[in-house]
Amino acid sequence: MKIARTTISGPYTCLKDWQDDCFVQAGDDGLVFSSKGNYLTAFFEAFPNNPDTFIRGEGKTIEEAEESAWGQLQRFQACSGHDFERRNYRNGAGFCKHCGMFKSKAFEPLDRCHICGVPTQHCYDTKRNWFCEQHKDQRPEEEVPEFEKRLNELLEITARRTGKNP
Ligand SMILES: [Zn+2]
Ligand SMILES: [Zn+2]
Repeated sequence: MKIARTTISGPYTCLKDWQDDCFVQAGDDGLVFSSKGNYLTAFFEAFPNNPDTFIRGEGKTIEEAEESAWGQLQRFQACSGHDFERRNYRNGAGFCKHCGMFKSKAFEPLDRCHICGVPTQHCYDTKRNWFCEQHKDQRPEEEVPEFEKRLNELLEITARRTGKNP
């Protein structure tokens, strides 16, 4: 059986027969945000290639969480034909209307490059204009969002420490 990487406890031996190319990870310290107060739960996450999706199961124990994730996979595989809808996502992700399966690239992103109009999610400026990879240099320096500048600073610091170029 597959061994799942875990966040705090030791390695976890899966109960279910996950495919070889399916990456799995588990933990008993998953944070759940709730209006009644946040709490910790056991979780089990799987990233199968067939179908290409991301599954997260939760439960009181990792075993219970795995059971839930496995149940979701069975439901996705039994679906007679996926029919995706965007829900609130603009980045091209979709969910099947019948079985609820998540697919990261079900659609083209809704956002389009400000310069050439291709669907993109590459980067944007403070006015929420998007730029594709080819046109990212045409974004004015003063309109690069704060979070991105800070991220770049961090990357530079890390690169200097490790002696690698970013
Ligand atoms: Zn489906
Ligand atoms: Zn472009």
